[in-house]
Amino acid sequence: MFCRAIGILRFAQDDKLPAVSLMPLIDKYSRPITDLRVSITDRCNYKCVYCRTGNEGAQYADLPMADYLRMVRVMVGLGIEKVRLTGGEPLLRKGVVEFVRELAALRTLRGEKLDIALTTNGHLLADMAQPLKDAGLTRVTVSMDAVDPEKFARITRVHNGYENVRAGIAAARKAGLDPVKVNCVLMRGFNDDQIVEFGKFAREEDVVVRFIEFMPLEEDRVWSPQIVVTLEEILIRMAEFMPLTEIHHARSETARRYVFEDGRGEIGIIAPVSQPFCGQCSRIRITSDGKIRTCLFSQMDHDLYGVMQRGNDDVVAKFIEGVVNKKEARHHIGEPGFQKPSRSMVHIGG
Ligand code: SAM
Repeated sequence: MFCRAIGILRFAQDDKLPAVSLMPLIDKYSRPITDLRVSITDRCNYKCVYCRTGNEGAQYADLPMADYLRMVRVMVGLGIEKVRLTGGEPLLRKGVVEFVRELAALRTLRGEKLDIALTTNGHLLADMAQPLKDAGLTRVTVSMDAVDPEKFARITRVHNGYENVRAGIAAARKAGLDPVKVNCVLMRGFNDDQIVEFGKFAREEDVVVRFIEFMPLEEDRVWSPQIVVTLEEILIRMAEFMPLTEIHHARSETARRYVFEDGRGEIGIIAPVSQPFCGQCSRIRITSDGKIRTCLFSQMDHDLYGVMQRGNDDVVAKFIEGVVNKKEARHHIGEPGFQKPSRSMVHIGG
């Protein structure tokens, strides 16, 4: 914070003149923007029923890793401190380990290492966890929507994926990618019978299980308010097994955090539908084709890649600052007149 208060000297790449940025990325609602999610492909090897139609493939181009690196480097120069790689499925992208190594060489405005995380379906993680850790990855989040192989296959529409994902989680733990988080999107009538099972899983496997409320971000038209399993309901259903006690979570953290009353096992609940946290949102996203999205529910993208091809880093930085200033106050899920965003989750990068 001290660095922010005194201002940062940033040098334009080409003209060698110092450009003074008095503040890092702060939007017009005074939210500091410190977290960046970068989708490095919108291809995915799973066809989760709540995410994809199952018929469509990738819709947008992948960029060379060097282009994502330049985007991230400029954003880190503006105050980004956490970078999460996502997709599509990021582990499908060749060069991801080397990319993590390059990110690990960057330093924040405070001169610290970046917090580098990855969200993956875990299918290819078993062999990649250690190389990713060695390259500088800090943390990993694995998406897994059932702790039952058959149910898992019905959701992902992939056979034998469950074993791969479990092996991926085990490899991530062994590699020390702590804390390993397991994300589960709950849908009523589909996998809400897994709540207690996931509670037991968190305790037995020593991973943080995080339930995510289903958002209207799917390719298809599956979402309805009735299908969402809310934070309150999760707490009530888990209490039938063992009550959860809330513990402190950082202001910028999306998940509310809980531990079982005997102290063993952590559960997170991300409740953007029933308890939105837009007021604390610290995120922006880069899509696989190099567009900035200021909110998952944005109606438009901002063409960072186009600007980057024409301008030097100073021009790129000014563009980013301008875009951040247009960040939406909040999403409007469940309100009359709600419009689905211009892209679905798999094509944004969750
Ligand atoms: N392929 C990677 C994975 O499976 O984690 C990264 C991309 S995936 C789109 C990122 C996360 O978004 C996953 O945890 C997934 O379950 C979640 N997700 C996808 N569609 C969602 C939706 N409509 N509502 C809430 N979460 C969703």
